[in-house]
Amino acid sequence: MSNKPLILWFRRDLRLSDHPMLQAAVATGRPLVPVFVLDGQTQAMGAAARFRLGLGLAQFGGALAAAGSRLLLRRGEALQVLQGLVAELGAAGVYWQRMYEPEARARDAAVKAALRAEGLEAESFAGALLVEPWQVATGQGGAYKVYTPFWRAVSARGIEAPLAAVRALPAPAVWPESDRLEDWGLGADMRRGAGVVARSQRVGEAAALARLEAFIAQDVGDYRALRDVPAEPATSGLSENLAWGEIGPRTIWAAGQRALFEGAAGAEQFCKELVWREFAYHLMYHNPEILTQSWRPEWQDFGWRGDNGDAERWRRGMTGEPFVDAAMREVYVTGRMHNRARMVVASYLTKHLMTHWRVGQAWFAEVLTDWDPAANAMGWQWVAGCGPDAAPYFRVFNPAGQAEKFDADGRYRRRWIAEGQARPGPEALAFFQACPRAWGLEAGQDYPAPVVNLAEGRARALAAYAAYKEKDASDDGDL
Ligand code: FAD
Repeated sequence: MSNKPLILWFRRDLRLSDHPMLQAAVATGRPLVPVFVLDGQTQAMGAAARFRLGLGLAQFGGALAAAGSRLLLRRGEALQVLQGLVAELGAAGVYWQRMYEPEARARDAAVKAALRAEGLEAESFAGALLVEPWQVATGQGGAYKVYTPFWRAVSARGIEAPLAAVRALPAPAVWPESDRLEDWGLGADMRRGAGVVARSQRVGEAAALARLEAFIAQDVGDYRALRDVPAEPATSGLSENLAWGEIGPRTIWAAGQRALFEGAAGAEQFCKELVWREFAYHLMYHNPEILTQSWRPEWQDFGWRGDNGDAERWRRGMTGEPFVDAAMREVYVTGRMHNRARMVVASYLTKHLMTHWRVGQAWFAEVLTDWDPAANAMGWQWVAGCGPDAAPYFRVFNPAGQAEKFDADGRYRRRWIAEGQARPGPEALAFFQACPRAWGLEAGQDYPAPVVNLAEGRARALAAYAAYKEKDASDDGDL
């Protein structure tokens, strides 16, 4: 067997356990050279995602060092960087875990073809999902478009057990040069928000596993009952770690199934939520246009507004609608937003403010540290009413009603909105430390009047929908 090194190209898979690519690489017995490439696609991510990636890379570098290895950092277009590294090391080839976004797939396919054309090994592996998107199909052999049958198919299929952690990676005789992470400035666009958002991040594999363990021990029992209450720490928080591959979904699934077996009431619901993530990837893989276009073609020309002043107030947590503003401030301070709140702010933007879902999708991509292209696109389209298996358009969330129902004691709104409180808490104040100075916001300011009267906003949205339906019907008569 050749002793030429193998290059391990890490991307959104910063972990050592349940990592099929890493297991396969260790099994070759060759020296292994892990690398992360800061390429154009990585640099195109939003500010919070790049910032969180930087934290993840630092942590993962430490985990690799503890396993006798290193994480090389290189900047440039992936193929050139990898070819350069192959030449430098006399490497046998490159292994990586698959990604599913269309741009990443195109890049990876080009890398694979070019390396193989040079007679090198180029292998991609599963690991990001419970099942590969092509491994489940409808009775007719097509892709699923509705969640419930997808869930049935995934759960009936049986999910493979997670693989054990790799403890040691054989090192090359000489390590190539690496960039310094600090020089990449991945957190630069967060400006003064970086220090604030950093406090809420739980970075790395050990933190992810601890999070899972604590959730299963304390919270999964009540998950079904409490998962919609944003003031409660009732959900796992694992989206942050899943987004960067700091934990594999099979590890979470296995823990959920064990809890279910042991009789934990909320465990099935928890597994179902994890399968919503799978569904998002299934949809994106089979219909990549979900990232940029309304899934239902009849929505393509709907009269949503483009970016506008009301949307800017939405971004700044200054709509005058407390549940919406609380959520928009939560994300600015923590990099995450409760799922119920995501649905409410998305509905408010696309319906009460009649603003295109892509405006909201783009802002979430900018501010979420758990940003996931598939889940984000599916979530926005689902709420806007133009996605697969979506909430019907006429289901307009009333943010005040949602607050009464899911924040009855007002804890969530008080936690995030300082205005009007004699002694606002640290989270509410942190928003004013994190947000750009240019926004000119201060904790002592008056709380704004509502951008839109809720009843009027709802009526306007429904009227626009009715008019659109009519127009469409007179155009081609098929809606
Ligand atoms: P838990 O309740 O503990 O659920 C466990 C896991 O299941 C999550 O970590 C997540 O991977 C998955 N999951 C749960 N709910 C959903 C869902 N509705 N859709 C897809 N997967 C789900 N999630 C992201 O990870 N990144 C995003 O960029 C993102 N954008 C969203 C945008 C909108 C408009 C909406 C409505 C939802 C979005 N979601 C996104 C889904 C969801 O809000 C988060 O996954 C969830 O809040 C994460 O919290 P948690 O880890 O505590 O979830």
